[in-house]
Amino acid sequence: MRHRLFEEWLFSQDDLNSAQKDLLDKHKQNCQRCQSLEAAWNEVSLYMEEQDWMAPDEDFGQRWQSRLKQYKVMEQQKHAYWAFLLTSGGALIFGIPFLISIFTTSPLLEMWSFFYRVSSLVETIQRWLSFLLMIFQPLGVLIPSALGIGIGFTVWGSMLLWLILMRRLHLIGSDKNGRE
Ligand SMILES: [Zn+2]
Repeated sequence: MRHRLFEEWLFSQDDLNSAQKDLLDKHKQNCQRCQSLEAAWNEVSLYMEEQDWMAPDEDFGQRWQSRLKQYKVMEQQKHAYWAFLLTSGGALIFGIPFLISIFTTSPLLEMWSFFYRVSSLVETIQRWLSFLLMIFQPLGVLIPSALGIGIGFTVWGSMLLWLILMRRLHLIGSDKNGRE
């Protein structure tokens, strides 16, 4: 049968000449498949004409854009807030034993600060891990550059303080050993 050919003609009826149209009509009368195919095709093209789908609502697009912007700003603020909280927390953990070691050298406090140093080191490592995860996980959401510089200074300052503290505690320890 030439059903295949008529199937193609069904979808391009505007291009057919009258003889071809006659042939198609005759075939359709005897062919169930072509009849249902044409009915389905008519439904689809009717649906496509009804839908205004090449021109989405402009207002919707704008609303969506501003929503996205708002969300991004909110996310940035949230990240900046947490970054600030974590870095200042970390700096505090580094800073407290350092300040204590400056103002006093009592052995009890030394023991305490040693204990504190170990426990705070563990805590600090955990903090930094979560901090780094938080920074690098949401790719594309960048912390504002001013805050980035601030974080950089805080990190390096904290590390410097930590090194000074370690050296100072070490010096106190070796000093005492030398005297005994
Ligand atoms: Zn057919």
